[in-house]
Amino acid sequence: MTKRQGGQRHRKADSRASDDHRSYPPRHDLSNELTALEGASYGRYKSLRGKWHIGEAVLDIRKVQSDPFAPPSRIAFAFDPEQADLVEDWFATEARRRAVAVLLAKRFRKSCNSKDLRIDAGGQEILRRSSCEVRADGSVVFRLGAQLPGRGRRIAGRAAAELLCRTLPDAADDALNVTEAEAEVWTRSADDTEALRRAVAERGLIAFVADGATLPRRSGVDRRPLRGGVPFASPESMAVRIDLPHAGTVRGMGIEPGVTLIVGGGFHGKSTLLRALEAGVWDHIPGDGRELVVADPSAVKIRAEDGRAVTGVDVHAFVDRLPSGEDTRHFSTENASGSTSQAAAIVEALEAGSRLLLIDEDTAATNLMIRDARMQELVAKEREPLTPLVDLIRSMADDHGVSTVLVMGGSGDYMDVADRVVMMDGYLPADVTERAKELAARPTGRVAEAESFAMPRPRVIEPGSVSSEVKGRAKIRATGTDSLRFGDADVDVRSIEQITDQSMTIGIGLAVEAAVRRGWIDGRAAVSDSLDRMEAALEDGGVAELLGIRDVDLALPRRHEVAATLNRMRGLRVHRAQERRPGIMGRSGDE
Ligand code: ADP
Ligand code: MG
Repeated sequence: MTKRQGGQRHRKADSRASDDHRSYPPRHDLSNELTALEGASYGRYKSLRGKWHIGEAVLDIRKVQSDPFAPPSRIAFAFDPEQADLVEDWFATEARRRAVAVLLAKRFRKSCNSKDLRIDAGGQEILRRSSCEVRADGSVVFRLGAQLPGRGRRIAGRAAAELLCRTLPDAADDALNVTEAEAEVWTRSADDTEALRRAVAERGLIAFVADGATLPRRSGVDRRPLRGGVPFASPESMAVRIDLPHAGTVRGMGIEPGVTLIVGGGFHGKSTLLRALEAGVWDHIPGDGRELVVADPSAVKIRAEDGRAVTGVDVHAFVDRLPSGEDTRHFSTENASGSTSQAAAIVEALEAGSRLLLIDEDTAATNLMIRDARMQELVAKEREPLTPLVDLIRSMADDHGVSTVLVMGGSGDYMDVADRVVMMDGYLPADVTERAKELAARPTGRVAEAESFAMPRPRVIEPGSVSSEVKGRAKIRATGTDSLRFGDADVDVRSIEQITDQSMTIGIGLAVEAAVRRGWIDGRAAVSDSLDRMEAALEDGGVAELLGIRDVDLALPRRHEVAATLNRMRGLRVHRAQERRPGIMGRSGDE
């Protein structure tokens, strides 16, 4: 069985040409059935639900649309290992399987010449998606939407036969006929990124940006790399060299734990660097420019988001002595201000287990970030409920191991608390830590407003408050990365900036639903324990864990996107882990 012939692979004979005589539950002759249905009422498509042999692959018609204008029907198209005939190397590790699956989905989309077959090929990230899975045994499944052809309310049977029995297997065959050369670009990139993540963790770094990386994107809506962008280059003082299996020794900027400040004039590339770090929790496709940019997998972008709901969050380290007299150790609001929303976001991220907070002055609440010497003099501390982050950030790092990377071109007060200061100058970083420390040695008259930061006490989510049910059915829909419809409420997720695309928004909704159904959220487990359970189940079960709830295009989110979404649900109810709650759950003795 030689598959290597000058980079060209010859998969077994065209699968449609071979006869398959196995007795196997799937039915044969879909093409005949469809042709026979020509002109029948559209609803009769439903009779085709279930599995069919198409050549050697199995088509599963899982969900049939009720009319030609409804959302597409859902189908799965599966190849067992022999029929998929992938090179074993390609599915030897989880990272490679994930990359090859994305490659196959993108190839499918490219080679499919019908707009009636809709595969979710994703964007720049390599995520575990429902649209294509490569399994550890080398089997492959494509899952996609199919717009079943109709003429008015009648079945266009011959067109449907063409679509499902020719266009579909052709596109899948084309996708699977990937050359060794092309697949290896993807598997090597996956190996290198995986090795880089391991090396970065082993060296105790929180992020790494390789020399030569392209960080800027073409536009806010086009996430491909900017052509002609200035390639990244690390200052020598921060340069780290890491050996990768395929790329060899790679030099780049290593960011140590602690407080890292990114300064520089406007338009010099500060936010672009931070955004690359935000995206560094995901792997990127070859050619993206950020394949070797990685951040601690728990990195969470923090921002202000006035108007959001906050439920029972202990924000008292940041917000205390409100004029209303409200207890901020258990703070709830339907309409948070910029500063309280950002304080809540920080506390919630820590609760979910983040060890790296990413903050950009462009989207932060100034009064939560800083209160300078003059303002301290004018407004006495007793009159100011807010304690700015600048006075808590050191304790977060030193006492709790939570690092921060902060873009702050507009205030020098963070120089007092920064471990290092990077200046972006013409899109290139310079290490200006020494100079910043000299400046910090000159007193400004500013006094610290807090001694230390205490980790918030864990919360427990009440499962009854998280319901997607509308008239007995789970209702979970997404509008891009803006909004998640969960039951009869909309959750505004626009400010959860690390959500990559609509499929992830859906993945989050389904993960929340699964958390309640499976009892990961059970009214007793602390939020972080619920997230542990969910993470373990999704790690093991993959997309199948969520597809059972709804057959849709989905991408697996991290625990952090799920937590951030839960925290923005307006009906959410929580209690403190140590609280006794007689009468509500009937577990008064429980801890
Ligand atoms: P800042 O946050 O410092 O104000 P931005 O990161 O928003 O700056 O970048 C300003 C502009 O420069 C953006 O349009 C961005 O795409 C572009 N840019 C950023 N980095 C680079 C780069 N390395 N090469 C070319 N253009 C870049
Ligand atoms: Mg900026």
